[in-house]
Amino acid sequence: MNDRFIPGQRRHTGLADLHMHTTYSDGVATVEQVLARIQDHTPLDVIAITDHDTIEGALRARDLAAKHDYPFEVIVGEEVSTREGHLLTLFLTKRIPPGLSIERSIELAHAQGGLAIVAHPFHRLFRFSVQREVMERLWRQPEVHPDGVETLNASFAGVGCYGLATRFTRDRYRWAETGSSDAHTPTAIGSARTTYPGSGVAALRLALAERQTQARGGYWRLREYRHLISYSRAHKGELAARRAQLRRTDEQIAQALEREPTLV
Ligand SMILES: [Zn+2]
Ligand SMILES: [Zn+2]
Repeated sequence: MNDRFIPGQRRHTGLADLHMHTTYSDGVATVEQVLARIQDHTPLDVIAITDHDTIEGALRARDLAAKHDYPFEVIVGEEVSTREGHLLTLFLTKRIPPGLSIERSIELAHAQGGLAIVAHPFHRLFRFSVQREVMERLWRQPEVHPDGVETLNASFAGVGCYGLATRFTRDRYRWAETGSSDAHTPTAIGSARTTYPGSGVAALRLALAERQTQARGGYWRLREYRHLISYSRAHKGELAARRAQLRRTDEQIAQALEREPTLV
């Protein structure tokens, strides 16, 4: 690995982790704990908080970053549950509701100046993984394309998919490739990363547009799974309440959309 963390050393290669969760969805760590972990234990230049179907935690992280002098920049993101699977959306100002088509969700990200990256595609067994026929559909249709594909996802959702995702993304789709931890535990943050020329958010956006990004790193270790399972057992009620709250919001959005279809 050529991106080892050497304190004080200036690098010409930026390091980003564009996919992680907090207690605003199903992560075990609060926004504050996530940011502290990144500051103290990772060399990352850019991170995105991408909770499931909410941007509340990401907005909080952005506000905290504005007050503190962190050595990294924070992107407001959301992992949107589209009809066809999970879609990472970055640089958001407004939440994108779940349950829409992947094309519509990409459009809504672009309409607010954001980017859309297909999260962990090609996993045959994971029901939130975008499947090959949908990738082909996105590739063939002329108008709405994602900006990138998460070819390396460090969680179970990425296991066994790196080769196929990389081959198709490089040779066929020709969208940018990214690597991300999909961390639900603080120790997983940075386990997979996106490298790019330069540093900071502006250079990252440019690199994504020019397909100059690369996926690096590996998979979660056993301790991440152990931590996640024990947390889920201990916080069953709390997690169910969070899911119910999100569902209520989705119902309100669906009702509002019926009344006023141009709302989003
Ligand atoms: Zn996912
Ligand atoms: Zn995720």
